Amino acid sequence: MPYVVTEACIGVKDKSCMTVCPVDCIYEAEDMVFINPDECIDCGLCEPECPVTAIFVDTDVPPNFREYVEKNAVEGRRLAGEKK
Ligand code: SF4
Ligand code: SF4
Repeated sequence: MPYVVTEACIGVKDKSCMTVCPVDCIYEAEDMVFINPDECIDCGLCEPECPVTAIFVDTDVPPNFREYVEKNAVEGRRLAGEKK
């Protein structure tokens, strides 16, 4: 059950979550950040750090933000691949 970044991050992107992630699986894109589900260890440390409550565990993502589960998977994996 990886964590997922949703719409509220857009335009905020203060990276507080990136600072606390122990496995560096949160990647910066142009407008927001994405979590690579293959690397997330589900520790939950990032969730309370977000000033705009953009982060949810995938099973708790609100219905109107469900598309972000797939978006984080696609973008997170792409950005992780670019880093390697
Ligand atoms: S839950 Fe933990 S491992 Fe996953 S993105 Fe958040 S801080 Fe990183
Ligand atoms: S802490 Fe929240 S707003 Fe800041 S970069 Fe992470 S998800 Fe985006």
